[in-house]
Amino acid sequence: MLVTMKKLLDDAKKNNYAVVAPNAWNEDTIRMSIVAAEQEKAPLILALYPVMANIEDFAQIACKFAEDSKVPVAVHLDHGSQFEEAVRAIRSGYSSIMVDRSQLPYDENVKEVKEIVKIAHSVGVTVEAELGHVGQGKDYTKTRDCGLTNVEEALRFVEETQVDCLAVAIGTSHGVYCGEPKIDFNLLKVLNENIKVPLVLHGSSGTGDENISKCVEYGINKINLFTDLDLAASDMFIEYIKNKSSIRIVEACNILYNGYKEKLIHNIKLVKSNNRV
Ligand SMILES: [Zn+2]
Repeated sequence: MLVTMKKLLDDAKKNNYAVVAPNAWNEDTIRMSIVAAEQEKAPLILALYPVMANIEDFAQIACKFAEDSKVPVAVHLDHGSQFEEAVRAIRSGYSSIMVDRSQLPYDENVKEVKEIVKIAHSVGVTVEAELGHVGQGKDYTKTRDCGLTNVEEALRFVEETQVDCLAVAIGTSHGVYCGEPKIDFNLLKVLNENIKVPLVLHGSSGTGDENISKCVEYGINKINLFTDLDLAASDMFIEYIKNKSSIRIVEACNILYNGYKEKLIHNIKLVKSNNRV
């Protein structure tokens, strides 16, 4: 069934686990994510990063699959960066949107997020925003410490914007890390003690199973995933084509999407969202 992300994350916060939010972009990645979630009896957030597919086209397929699924599924716009994207997502049926203004100064971030929260909440759509900034893995050694979330600001931000969940910067990074991931668990602990809405982790890929588990234990309720799924698919494919002189296209796609699915199942178990439905 199609549900709001707030419903999923509030339960995750209450029971101390996290919900996986894989980036999906077409019918196959949507289907594989739902197969994985149903197999593990886990809630799911299907997240579209808007450069990967058209917002409306994705909604048509994702909402249909979500409605037909045996587990609760939220359809989410990941990293919406413009006002128009948020409105298009709401209009086309997403049950949740991220309004990412984390690169703007605090006051502008609040102003823009607040405006969209008012619109989204009036039609029951969940809103995620980001405070502090999770950067790119290639710049990790230079940027790791610059964007960490400030606790007082985060408290004020949630109060002023009325967001439903908050993405925090605690030392993770998008894509492949250049250098060793260094997570500030103490900061996460303090954020979790003070912030009343569920906390979101971006840049989970490459962070390592042990760190992810600990993040969930310390209060993260949503884990965004893409690069690890992508790499797992690629590894499985490379292994499969070893010593083969040809491969059929359908077979090739099945191998890749299976790699994506297997890694997603691994993460569902890692963040303890299996057997929650
Ligand atoms: Zn992200």
